[in-house]
Amino acid sequence: MDNKPIVLVVDDEQTNVDIVSNILTDRYDLRVAHNGTKALMAVEKFDIDLILLDIQMPGINGFEVAKKIREQKKYDHIPIIFLTSQKNEDSIVTGFDVGGNDYITKPFNPKELIARVQTHLHVHQLQKFLEMMLNMQSTIIVLSDGEDLTFINKTGLDFFNFGDSDQFFKHFSCICDTFVNIKGVFYPGPDENSKWIEDIQKLPQKERNVAIRSKDDKLTIFQVSVQSIAASKMFIIDFNDITESIEQQRLLEEQVTHDPLTGTYNRTYFHQNIDKFTKNNRHNDMLKAVAFLDIDYFKKVNDTYGHDVGDVILQEFVKVIQNSIRESDTLIRWGGEEFILIISLQESSLITTVLEKLRNAIKNYSFTTAGQITCSIGATLLQDDENIYTAIKRADTALYQSKSDGRNKITLL
Ligand code: GH3
Ligand code: MG
Ligand code: MG
Repeated sequence: MDNKPIVLVVDDEQTNVDIVSNILTDRYDLRVAHNGTKALMAVEKFDIDLILLDIQMPGINGFEVAKKIREQKKYDHIPIIFLTSQKNEDSIVTGFDVGGNDYITKPFNPKELIARVQTHLHVHQLQKFLEMMLNMQSTIIVLSDGEDLTFINKTGLDFFNFGDSDQFFKHFSCICDTFVNIKGVFYPGPDENSKWIEDIQKLPQKERNVAIRSKDDKLTIFQVSVQSIAASKMFIIDFNDITESIEQQRLLEEQVTHDPLTGTYNRTYFHQNIDKFTKNNRHNDMLKAVAFLDIDYFKKVNDTYGHDVGDVILQEFVKVIQNSIRESDTLIRWGGEEFILIISLQESSLITTVLEKLRNAIKNYSFTTAGQITCSIGATLLQDDENIYTAIKRADTALYQSKSDGRNKITLL
């Protein structure tokens, strides 16, 4: 079969059907329905491109047929031309009110019928072409008047697992109803559905991200782009899945800022977050202390049990420390078997208690193969407006003191 547009002729009188058919049969693939019910069935069954609709019919009349068709979003764009002998003004107005696109009265000029059918088909083809383009996109695209949805493309329906857009619209009237409220993404305020497009556009482009759960419950992060169509007060909204690139970015950042052996932060992290270790401090009204921790005679551990055992001991060492510190404290592998611990304190006198607890936790732990191991600690309080590197230098000097005092010691400077 060739690709002629499909035109549905709805009329209860065979003579009328014959007249229209004679005029249109060469140009279009014609279907005929002799009453309203059959017309609705034909719309379900065939991919109708245009409907020529009689008004007066037994059973459901033409107006009701049009209304029923327009109830479904997927048939919203099928052009409906009323073809009727009713010439009164009320009837014409009703024809447009119920969703008709044109109104032709009988008797009609065949050329005029062809011209009107062609014009409406042309608009309809353009509309179909646009929908096809939107359905081919790999991003989710929706059309909305700001509140209600009028279109969602195939990628969107697949993502949510809906067969067609009417099903989707029954579940969600606003696409924002699908958003999940998690940290780090945009989420509309309570009762602000209608404003969400406006609100998200106030954010810088790279922060216009939302979280949505897919049909298989996968939390997905989308970057949202909004294009407004001024003339129709409509918005084209594009949702681009950036979950993977965000995850890659996070992994990369983690690699750069963490020590691969022990999982603690590394020096890069410290340098990048230097502000956090100084300014935050005063803001929270907490004191900060800097401590150097260095495993005693670690070279001997390596020499005796091998480097692999040494590695395991380093991991155990970190675990023991991390179990003894608070979330507000930060452990950084500064190098080799040397760690810096930034400690938040309510008052300065607590520093000794905290460090004693750490020293004892290490001393009392039974390390793999090596058994008992100790560490030496040098620490200092960060002074107001002091450069943290100066404090680190002082803690290093304190550590040196602990070593020369016989190790397994704490020195405060
Ligand atoms: P001190 O009590 O004076 O600190 O003596 P030490 O032997 O612990 O100190 P030193 O600085 O002489 O030696 C540190 C050792 O730590 C030498 C080095 O091979 C070892 N080391 C550094 N990084 C690693 C690592 O990632 N894995 C293992 N297994 N050993 C490491
Ligand atoms: Mg050491
Ligand atoms: Mg050392």
